[in-house]
Amino acid sequence: MSRVLVIGAGGVSSVAVHKMAMNADIFTDIHLASRTKAKCDAIAASVKERTGLGIATYQIDAEDVPALTELIRKIGPSLVVNLALPYQDLTIMDACLAAGVHYLDTANYEPKEEAKFEYSWQWAYHDRFREAGLMALLGSGFDPGVTSVFTMWLKKHRLKTIRTLDILDCNGGDHGQAFATNFNPEINIREVTAPARHWENGEFVESPAMSKKVEFDFEGVGPKNMYMMYHEELESLAKFVPELERARFWMTFGDEYIKHLTVLQNVGMTRIDPVIYEGKEIIPLQFLKAVLPEPASLGPTTRGKTNIGVIATGESLDGSGEKTFYIKNICDHEDAYRETGNQAVSYTTGVPAMIGSAMMVQGIWKGEGVFNMEQFDPDPFMEMLNGHGLPWTVEELDEPVDF
Ligand code: NDP
Repeated sequence: MSRVLVIGAGGVSSVAVHKMAMNADIFTDIHLASRTKAKCDAIAASVKERTGLGIATYQIDAEDVPALTELIRKIGPSLVVNLALPYQDLTIMDACLAAGVHYLDTANYEPKEEAKFEYSWQWAYHDRFREAGLMALLGSGFDPGVTSVFTMWLKKHRLKTIRTLDILDCNGGDHGQAFATNFNPEINIREVTAPARHWENGEFVESPAMSKKVEFDFEGVGPKNMYMMYHEELESLAKFVPELERARFWMTFGDEYIKHLTVLQNVGMTRIDPVIYEGKEIIPLQFLKAVLPEPASLGPTTRGKTNIGVIATGESLDGSGEKTFYIKNICDHEDAYRETGNQAVSYTTGVPAMIGSAMMVQGIWKGEGVFNMEQFDPDPFMEMLNGHGLPWTVEELDEPVDF
């Protein structure tokens, strides 16, 4: 018997809740709460239609710790799954501590007033979770999430040490809109416009946003330009794979996306400091989010595939010298939509959120304190990826990456 409370009712939550309902032997009782209850009800209706299962829904402001604590106590879940926004991570962790419940999320904390995300704020909760005998699992999405599990799988089964690591995230989907983001536009644009950072010889090296571009031929998608940027799993990978000489993260963007983003930046629409408009303070990026398409609305029109993977070079486990392996998943937008009513970017995040939750509620991954994905046995997670819609492949490459 495992009762879970999911918070947030966007695309990622929708996928995770559908997949939990499809695994009712693991998740016997699912509750869903978010800022807008109507969005929870819409997910519950779709789950009912697809699986026949009923889900209880609630309205909650996850930044109101006393109200959230009360809701958690009333429902009595064994796990709270945070699929709201990174801004709510700390208040949800506070409420979990107050109510004595385990915690999981898919993105690390970020303060609203500064486009800066790092694990330090959440790692600082380690002692409190440990003393309470509770577990918090951070970053159980695809990237971060599966990318770290892929890396640890390679370290367990192919490479004794990893010298260089490149994470390649390609969304080859076309949603038919001139400009839209595949997940929360505010979080997405803050991430993309931040300076790039990569790990090299024991420190993070910073370069201007989108200044390093490489063309790569992605299986199932074709050649795409990918740009080096900072991504949060670089921080946990540098910590838990200490021998890494270099670790980089790359994401593909089409020329149209870059053109629109450049204009929006140039005219000040991506600013996150308040401006006065008709006597009222508004944040330009939040206003921009309000006029852009909701990522969840892109599902019906998105065609194509995502291809996300890790290329690692290091000393092989069998002692045969240095080797390079590429491990990846390819996910089809239309298949994802058919199964859960959401496109592949939400799907590739929501499925690992469900799998991380399954690891926790079944006690397969357990601990007391705050943990990252790198700290657990990758095998049971990798097995569930294969069985729940995100199959992966691993191949040996002839040589390390040449970019
Ligand atoms: P959406 O914006 O679609 O959904 C966010 C949901 O959170 C909305 O339902 C929103 O409510 C709700 N919410 C926002 N503020 C509050 C609050 N104060 N109290 C309660 N609910 C709140 O985002 P996505 O579904 O695309 O993304 C969800 C999370 O997944 C994000 O943290 C994102 O960064 C992360 N993510 C992680 C990825 C990974 O691979 N690791 C990849 C993609 C996303 P309302 O509907 O009222 O606005």
